[in-house]
Amino acid sequence: MKVTILGSGTSQGVPVIACDCEVCRSTDEHDKRLRCSAMIDIGEKKLIIDAGPDFRTQMLRAGVKDVTALLLTHEHKDHIGGLDDIRAFNWVKNGEVDIYCNQRTKDVIYKDYDYAFAEFRYPGVPEMNIHVIDEAPFHIDDIEVIPVTVMHYRLPVSAFRIGNFAYVTDANFISEESMKKLEGVEYMVINALRKEIHLSHFTLNQAIQVVQRLNVKQAYITHIGHQMGLHEQVSLELPENVKLAYDMLTFEF
Ligand SMILES: [Zn+2]
Ligand SMILES: [Zn+2]
Repeated sequence: MKVTILGSGTSQGVPVIACDCEVCRSTDEHDKRLRCSAMIDIGEKKLIIDAGPDFRTQMLRAGVKDVTALLLTHEHKDHIGGLDDIRAFNWVKNGEVDIYCNQRTKDVIYKDYDYAFAEFRYPGVPEMNIHVIDEAPFHIDDIEVIPVTVMHYRLPVSAFRIGNFAYVTDANFISEESMKKLEGVEYMVINALRKEIHLSHFTLNQAIQVVQRLNVKQAYITHIGHQMGLHEQVSLELPENVKLAYDMLTFEF
């Protein structure tokens, strides 16, 4: 399995207005982050987790020519705002793109992309085949995916476990029941927005605590805001089994 971090940032970390902080001014490529997303290559299969507003740029940057399926964690715009651009894959496939998400996320997609589901569709609209998932494990071809519900303040978000790998984003609380489902995970991507407490995201320390409790072999922090500090400096403060992710980081196991 190969994991590529397509984006390690957050909407707060992508300056839409000029920001003068040291991270936004940094010339280190590690400090330049697109919205949070990842790609998982398993054999010939390619899964993409989340399709935020930077989706198109991320597909081009990673040279993605086709996808097996998209997994969506939740309905916030920084995770589904790029779905219109799946039409390129519709063209490649000559058909729909398979998308796996919970019911709430599906409802928001139907609302935000109503033109894609209208009775009389304009030619060329994105074609999505949405599979609603709950907490039950499901299969994409021969790949078993275990959804794990985590809490983003009051919003349930789907984390995904595939074998000994788990991807947890937009969480600031994981129940004991969900922690059990993550037991035995060796490689993990987990969100942390910054060092200071936040309403709906783990802080760096909180994320590290989850990683250490699960005894994860190697973890990567994602969904990083500019308030986290410079990649180079923060990296020095981390335990050996925790690294800050950065855009286009890859790891294989
Ligand atoms: Zn969110
Ligand atoms: Zn987010």
